[in-house]
Amino acid sequence: MMAGELNDLYQDIILDHSKNPRNSGYLEGATHSARENNPLCGDRVSVYLTVQNAEITDLTFEARGCAISVASASMMGQMMKGKSVAEAQNLFKQFIALINGSDVAEGVELKDLQSLSGVKQFPTRVKCATLSWHALQHALESGGIESKTS
Ligand code: ZN
Repeated sequence: MMAGELNDLYQDIILDHSKNPRNSGYLEGATHSARENNPLCGDRVSVYLTVQNAEITDLTFEARGCAISVASASMMGQMMKGKSVAEAQNLFKQFIALINGSDVAEGVELKDLQSLSGVKQFPTRVKCATLSWHALQHALESGGIESKTS
């Protein structure tokens, strides 16, 4: 889907995260959770968080779908663990800017997430890359655990 040497490197990072997702699985004792799906691509993601004193002390996810959606969830978890809720919300904004091809604020370290910047050339893939991030936002906003039966 991408061309050029730098993009090959990016593709390796994406494939690595999609094949070996970090922080994948159900989180026992989570305080917040949310689920999102992307009917365009068939991606599904659930995000589970433990928030204590306005800090994300733990985060896991269950993702099924394309490489980009799984990789993005994996990278998000890596970045968000140990962040304050305010930092998490700022990171969300910066990531959305990256994916939309807007300027990312100075001093923000996106690390592996940078590898998803090529998605902006593929509008149908934007939803794949941002799915887990919207789930995280909804989990933080709703402030609770969704019922397992819903
Ligand atoms: Zn997808």
